[in-house]
Amino acid sequence: MKIFYVTFFLTLNFLFSFSSQNRKVLIIGIDGTRSDAFQQANTPHLDALLASSTYSYDSWHTGITWSGPSWTTILTGVQWNKHLVTSNSFSNHDFLNYPPFPTLAKQLYPNLNCSIVAEWDPLVDNITNAGWNHAVKVPDTGNWPTADSAVVELQNPDIDLLFAYFDKVDVTGHTSTFSPSNPLYISAIQDVDSAVGRVLNALYARPTYSSENWLILVITDHGGKNFGHGGNSNEERHIWWMASGSVVAHQQINQADPGTYNCHLNNVYDSTCVNFALLKSSPTHPDIAVTALHHLIYESGINPETKPEWNLDGKSWLLNPSEVNEIAGENVSVYPNPVEGELTVRSSRFTVENKISLELFSVDGRKVFSSIPVSESMKIQTENFAKGIYLLKAGSVSKKIVIE
Ligand SMILES: [Zn+2]
Repeated sequence: MKIFYVTFFLTLNFLFSFSSQNRKVLIIGIDGTRSDAFQQANTPHLDALLASSTYSYDSWHTGITWSGPSWTTILTGVQWNKHLVTSNSFSNHDFLNYPPFPTLAKQLYPNLNCSIVAEWDPLVDNITNAGWNHAVKVPDTGNWPTADSAVVELQNPDIDLLFAYFDKVDVTGHTSTFSPSNPLYISAIQDVDSAVGRVLNALYARPTYSSENWLILVITDHGGKNFGHGGNSNEERHIWWMASGSVVAHQQINQADPGTYNCHLNNVYDSTCVNFALLKSSPTHPDIAVTALHHLIYESGINPETKPEWNLDGKSWLLNPSEVNEIAGENVSVYPNPVEGELTVRSSRFTVENKISLELFSVDGRKVFSSIPVSESMKIQTENFAKGIYLLKAGSVSKKIVIE
C-alpha cells in the first residue's frame, strides 16, 4: 500500500512537471519603500529570503522617481528614454517596441502562463497587454486582498509568472511622510511583510514545489521625501532589491550610486549624469525584467541581455551554467532518512567559498532550518521539529525527509 502511494505520488509529480515548465518567477512589488526604512523595519518574511539571495540595500533609481515610469522600467527592462513613460498617466508609452517582458518571453514560449495582481488600477490598465493571461485588479483596501488574490494565482498548477504589487507603504508615505522615523511608515512596511509571508507560504505549499525552480524577485520602485517623490534626492533614489533562488549567487552587493538618466535639459536626457562603468555592476530596475525573462526562457539558450532585437537595458543576475551545476543530486547524501534525532547532510561541495545554502521546509512551507555549511558534513538536530514530511534544499538540490 505504501509502495503504491509513493509510486502514485511520483507519477503525479511527473505529470505536473510536464504540464508547464519548471522554471518559474514570482515578483513582489512594494511601492515607495525607502532603503533605510526597509532595513529598520521588522520584516521576518522578506529577511528569510536573504540567505538565498543576491540582494542590495544600496540600489539606486536611475530614472524618473514616479511610480508609472518606475514600474514600466521594472517590467519592460528599459529606461524611460525608450519606453517613453514619464508620468503616472502612462501616456505616450512605446509598448510596441518595448513591451512588458511576458510578451517577449512568449515570442519563445507562447504557452507561458503569466498573472498580475495589483492594488493600483492604472498599473493593471496600462501595463496589461496580450502578454498577461490573467490580470486582477484588487481593491486598495489593505494588503490582505492582494495577498489572497496572489495565493489563488499560486494555486494554479500551471502558473509560470506572478507579479504581485502592494501599494500600502507608498500610500502611508504620502499621507504621513516617507521617513524611517515615522512609525506609521515603518508599520506599513511590516504589514506588507506579513502579507508577503502569506504569499510565500502559498508558494512553498504548492504540491509540485520540490520539482520547480522558482526565482523570487522583490523590488520597490522609489523612496520618498517628506510627503512625496518624483525628484532626484538620495531619499527618493536610494532603494533596495533582492533576487532569491538556486540560480543566483548568494551575496550582498554594496554599490555606489551610478547616477540617473533623469538629468535632462529641454527633455533631452543628459548621459553625462550616469557613470556607465558603475551602472554595469549596479543592481538597477531594468535588471528585474531581464533576470526574470532570462530565467523563464533559459532553456532556449538565449540571454535577453544581449538579444539585439529586444534592445534591453538591464542585466541578468543568473549564475552561469557551470556555477549553477556546482552541486548535483548524487553529490548530496542525507542520513538517516527517516530520521529520529540527528540528521547528517554531506557534500564535498559544502565549503566556505561555495556558500551553498542548506534549508529545511515543513510541508506547509515554513522554513524550520537554514544554514550555509562551511565543511563537508552538516548536522541538523530534529528533536524539536514536528513529526512529518520535510523538504531539504541544498543549493539547487531538493530531497524529501521524514522526521519521526
Ligand atoms: Zn510608486
